[in-house]
Amino acid sequence: MDDQQRLRYSRHLLLNEFGEEAQQRLLDAHALVIGAGGLGSAALMYLASSGMGRITVCDGDKVDLTNLQRQVVHRQESIGKPKAGSAAATLKGINPDIRIEALEERAGPERLAALVRTADVVLDCSDNFATRHALNRACVAARKPLVSGAGIRFDGQVAVFDARAADAPCYHCLFGEGEDLEPTRCAVMGVFAPVVGIIGATQAAEAMKLIAGVGATLAGRLLLLDALAMSWREVRIPRDPHCPVCSTR
Ligand SMILES: [Zn+2]
Repeated sequence: MDDQQRLRYSRHLLLNEFGEEAQQRLLDAHALVIGAGGLGSAALMYLASSGMGRITVCDGDKVDLTNLQRQVVHRQESIGKPKAGSAAATLKGINPDIRIEALEERAGPERLAALVRTADVVLDCSDNFATRHALNRACVAARKPLVSGAGIRFDGQVAVFDARAADAPCYHCLFGEGEDLEPTRCAVMGVFAPVVGIIGATQAAEAMKLIAGVGATLAGRLLLLDALAMSWREVRIPRDPHCPVCSTR
């Protein structure tokens, strides 16, 4: 780290539990963020400001006026532009010290698998089950930690699936594909803006802890937020011994 970096990240360096070694690990790491919507907005901005050295953001959508209520990485002038590029522009403004790659595409299973192999940590900030399951498969296959988030109405959830551990559950153990209903979409259901911010920021925190090797992560635990009551609930995620994704690896 040079002097400018030491200043920029000084409030991390002051943390006894974090410090220079952890900051250097962040600077050397590559985070893959799938989705630059509400969850991705918060996650991306904290990853960038914190000094995640390389960030790949992938999203095939364009910024719409209805997004701006909660997708805080985008600006009014970005309406009609691709979300990935819009997010990357904001992140470069926050921290020119890091490398940001914008992929303006909706990645399918094979593309996701290739992207996951290049990353050190993966954040699922997507809004559909097909992507969530494909991303989970890719993370299990490549043994990469996955930080999964979701938010709708006043409800949020966040969990870590760390496939580096042999006995770790995966996303499929929790939400089997047979049970899939197309997720209740923001377009018809509504979403209380700060919910996706709270969950996205939590995803960033977990991703950073996973990279830095700091603290106890959410691995194997699901946190459920009820923002109307402002209460959190924690559920242990059991591994499904018959899970078709993680039991055969
Ligand atoms: Zn599984």
